[in-house]
Amino acid sequence: MPRPRYRSRKLKRVKKKVPGGATKLSYKKKTPKIHKCAECKKELKGIPRLKATKAKHVPKTKKKVSRLYGGFLCGTCARKKLKNQARLSK
Ligand SMILES: [Zn+2]
Repeated sequence: MPRPRYRSRKLKRVKKKVPGGATKLSYKKKTPKIHKCAECKKELKGIPRLKATKAKHVPKTKKKVSRLYGGFLCGTCARKKLKNQARLSK
């Protein structure tokens, strides 16, 4: 039975050849899923798929698009939302 922390599926299981020639199970951190627009579920461009350990060393400006709702909504949905907000604020 593996150690308790390796029993959950939060880590990816990878079979690796060890120097002795045997194949051993090793655990790797999963890469996050592709980020998607919150409204139309379209793939967001310009947002890298970084693991949590690497993401903290990358500046914030390289992890999102420098626009209102950047990294949350796609360009089309952001434009629609902003237009709607401007129209409603009158
Ligand atoms: Zn969208």
